[in-house]
Amino acid sequence: MREQVREQVRARVSGFGRALIDLLYPPLCWLCGCDAASAGDGHASGCVEHALPDGPPGVRCPICAGAMAAALEGAERCASCRRDSFGIERLVVLGDYRRQAQLREWVLAFKHGGRAELARPLAAALARRVRASVAQVAAENVLVPVPLHPWRRLERGYDQAARLGSELCDALGWPLARALVRTRPTVVQGTAGATSRSANVRGAFGAARWRPLARRAVAEAECVWIVDDVVTSGATLRECARALRRMGARRVCALALARATPHAGSTAGREDELEADTAPARDGDCALTRDGDCAPTRDAADARRLRCAP
Ligand SMILES: [Zn+2]
Ligand SMILES: [Zn+2]
Repeated sequence: MREQVREQVRARVSGFGRALIDLLYPPLCWLCGCDAASAGDGHASGCVEHALPDGPPGVRCPICAGAMAAALEGAERCASCRRDSFGIERLVVLGDYRRQAQLREWVLAFKHGGRAELARPLAAALARRVRASVAQVAAENVLVPVPLHPWRRLERGYDQAARLGSELCDALGWPLARALVRTRPTVVQGTAGATSRSANVRGAFGAARWRPLARRAVAEAECVWIVDDVVTSGATLRECARALRRMGARRVCALALARATPHAGSTAGREDELEADTAPARDGDCALTRDGDCAPTRDAADARRLRCAP
């Protein structure tokens, strides 16, 4: 909360005013509240322990952001994308959910710890990642968050992808078009694999009929960017891309906080294991969910631990 107020006040002043605020109220880590945030340009978001990454480690597929064998560096796409690329042109992520523990803490606190305000620093970091990694950004971009089912929204109190989309809109200057709706809730079976997950979200998204302006923005944009928190199997992205194409979208890309990816060289079977691993099973915390919307019970406990950070 303190960082939220600090940022709001800081944005309204300049020069000496900012220097004074930085002196009197040095930036704190958004996640844990410790005062070790590096001052930098005043927008530092985390302490040393909670520094946000500026990309996933290792060699990554330019399309799905999944890990690739080092020998494939420079390749156009990974083996999995050669078979099927989610129906998107590229996915830009802040990091790897499994391999970067500090990012996982942020994502869990944001998704399961009630820390909606973390959308701001997370979006700022993701926007920096977009600027650094996308060589030619289309002039006319539109951000479309993956919709949350109203029941889930009621349970959580906020829609994390919509919050993230709204903050990305500020950080990147791209308009937000809430053109997608969830037409039915999707239910996770505890050990659902990629195939079941895909069947689970099939046809679960449609056009927001009462938002003609948003639909028009999608049809007229040069590139539509789907916004999600964690991408696992890509089934949600695939269904959203399909719905956006039906609305007339020409190019579809995606932005997400993290890619939950199996190890390099893994097979589809290994990805199935990951799906099962990141599903909440019978943890009542997450009965209705979407692809990548859940964490294992142990992670949910971690999120609760982070819930009360200032
Ligand atoms: Zn911290
Ligand atoms: Zn790929």
